[in-house]
Amino acid sequence: MCYSGVNTFTVNYKGDIYGCHRCYYDNFGSTYKLDDLDKGISLARRVFMCDVNNLDMMPAKCKKCNPAIRDRCHLCFASNKKAYGDMHAISNSYCMLMKELFYLLLEREK
Ligand code: SF4
Ligand code: SF4
Repeated sequence: MCYSGVNTFTVNYKGDIYGCHRCYYDNFGSTYKLDDLDKGISLARRVFMCDVNNLDMMPAKCKKCNPAIRDRCHLCFASNKKAYGDMHAISNSYCMLMKELFYLLLEREK
């Protein structure tokens, strides 16, 4: 869904590796910790990240969304987790905002 743990990582001052800045700064404890610089990232944590950051985990409404909108939509599992306690829950207000922005840009391009 995004670059977290794929080609974006955050490393803190202790050498702990996280999927991205939000996975670290949003204080989820070790939930999104991907081991550390000494150990590297274990296969188990890679599998975990693939399970979290996976297009198959996208909410049903997003799978059916216009691909042109979806490609511009930030399906941020970390902010979902922070706001709703569910990595894959997307707020209706965010969804409406993304759609309105998309159609506003389309109008402006005419
Ligand atoms: S606009 Fe809404 S339905 Fe479409 S991808 Fe974004 S959150 Fe999902
Ligand atoms: S979309 Fe969210 S989870 Fe993904 S890299 Fe950005 S902040 Fe991290």
